[in-house]
Amino acid sequence: MPGRLIQGHNVRGPLEIEADVAIVGSGAGGAVTAAELSEAGLRVVVLEEGGYHETKEITTNALDMIQKFYRDAGTSVIMGKPNIIFAEGRCVGGSTVINGGMCWRTPERVLKRWYLEMGLDGFSPKETAGWFEKVEKNINVARQDPDTVSPHDLALKAGADRLGYKTEWNTRNQLHCAGTNNCAFGCPSGGKQSMLVSYLPRAMTRGATILSDTRVRRVIVENGRAQGFEADVIDRATGRPLHPVTVRAPVTVLAAGATQTPVLLQRQGICNSSGQVGRNFTCHPNAKVVAVMDRDIYGWKGVHQAVQVHEFLNEGLIFAAVFVPPALLAMSMPFAGDEMLEFLENVNRMVISGVLVEDTTTGTIRPGPMGSTLMTYQIDPVGFERVLRGIALVSEMLFASGAKRVYLPIHGLTHFDSPDEIHKIYRLGVKPTDVELLTVHAMSSCRMSADPRWGVVNPWGETFDVKNLFITDGSIVPTPIGLNPQETIMMLASRGADYIANEWGRLRRAA
Ligand SMILES: Cc1cc2nc3c(=O)[nH]c(=O)nc-3n(C[C@H](O)[C@H](O)[C@H](O)COP(=O)(O)OP(=O)(O)OC[C@H]3O[C@@H](n4cnc5c(N)ncnc54)[C@H](O)[C@@H]3O)c2cc1C
Repeated sequence: MPGRLIQGHNVRGPLEIEADVAIVGSGAGGAVTAAELSEAGLRVVVLEEGGYHETKEITTNALDMIQKFYRDAGTSVIMGKPNIIFAEGRCVGGSTVINGGMCWRTPERVLKRWYLEMGLDGFSPKETAGWFEKVEKNINVARQDPDTVSPHDLALKAGADRLGYKTEWNTRNQLHCAGTNNCAFGCPSGGKQSMLVSYLPRAMTRGATILSDTRVRRVIVENGRAQGFEADVIDRATGRPLHPVTVRAPVTVLAAGATQTPVLLQRQGICNSSGQVGRNFTCHPNAKVVAVMDRDIYGWKGVHQAVQVHEFLNEGLIFAAVFVPPALLAMSMPFAGDEMLEFLENVNRMVISGVLVEDTTTGTIRPGPMGSTLMTYQIDPVGFERVLRGIALVSEMLFASGAKRVYLPIHGLTHFDSPDEIHKIYRLGVKPTDVELLTVHAMSSCRMSADPRWGVVNPWGETFDVKNLFITDGSIVPTPIGLNPQETIMMLASRGADYIANEWGRLRRAA
């Protein structure tokens, strides 16, 4: 079945497939691996739990798009005090279909950390440059055309500029982005170069088969080597298994993402001699602050996040503006009633900003009841201090740009009416449980390490315990990176794929 997309509803009975490489997951990690290995001449099959949705199906109906593209319709929660709202993709193209498109190379200080903390050699900026360049070319990483920059980006930047804080025009994976500001619900113009319109078509052109609506159950392991997957075609609406699927292949790749890859391994009880599967989970927590400006902004015009404030990057803080449709925004604010009505009357004048906080602690991922995923993460005092400082700094920037009021994600301290009030955040005894946090950057739950005692995969992504089983998704990122992660994940996947292609003869014989 070369070069085909097979959607679950077209499968009529059990399937048995032979391939060179079997991959679970079609997001940032899986799609890159699939394309690179198809281009190397290998027969690749990708199994994806989510459905396939073409660009022409993408609309601005956010609730409809969330149903189509998000795991659990975007209602997942990472447990802790506070709970953290979490969202990820579940569709052909994975989270890249709904992400904001920010693309950054892994900072040098982080690559150095990989060497110092995890013993990972071969990851200097010079040594990784070739893979980053390849990824950037394939997904067209570039700055926005100026006429697509949103007024909300310009408003945040104006405040940062006024205070002398360094900003950076974001590099994004887009080609002629039309600035519809619909990134988080899918790109209706096809301008965002998600996996759906970049690496996956590339893989299929070279013969890869993608099977959508197909959930992998387990890795086939024989004599200590992976030999493919057992999976089920599922009913898209109910998730009920319909037909069994077996894919046998000498090389097996897990790219189900940082929440699902460790769950698959733990349910099966493999790859965990180090005890590190599902540990070291980081999530780059995010707090949202909403300014009502002294002028109309129309934040829905122009692209999602064209600029970030990088002045405090070395303190683990980045800031950006992100438009959220009013219905979703209302659900996520810590107030209701008259205050909510007054709040919503000002939608035209809002700048919705976020502070992203580099992790200073780690959480866990475990299988939960009824096929669910149990995620835990308890923000530590250092991380919490960063959250408060981030909220204070972004409030300062928004007031400097003309905010009349800044709404906060804090129970008991819902807003500031002037920059003179910002200090209250440190005076009123705000506790972690008072603050609403969210995140979309899951990582490191099967981390890469040079030492089998401290990680799950070796520096090329092969698991220490099961031969010919590779992981190429966000779960292998060795440490927190403090920036949006997709380009780091794609670099690791591209590097891992090159290793598999180069070692193909040996890997096939060994199987
Ligand atoms: C709303 C949002 C905005 C974001 N914005 C940015 C941004 O601007 N820049 C950035 O760098 N990052 C961003 N990210 C994060 C980035 O998209 C992810 O870090 C990245 O896509 C993760 O890649 P991955 O391959 O690990 O997982 P994913 O891309 O999530 O792909 C995993 C795939 O595996 C599938 N899968 C899981 N389990 C199974 C199974 N058992 N069987 C079959 N298939 C399975 C899933 O359905 C999914 O499609 C954002 C994420 C979200 C959700």
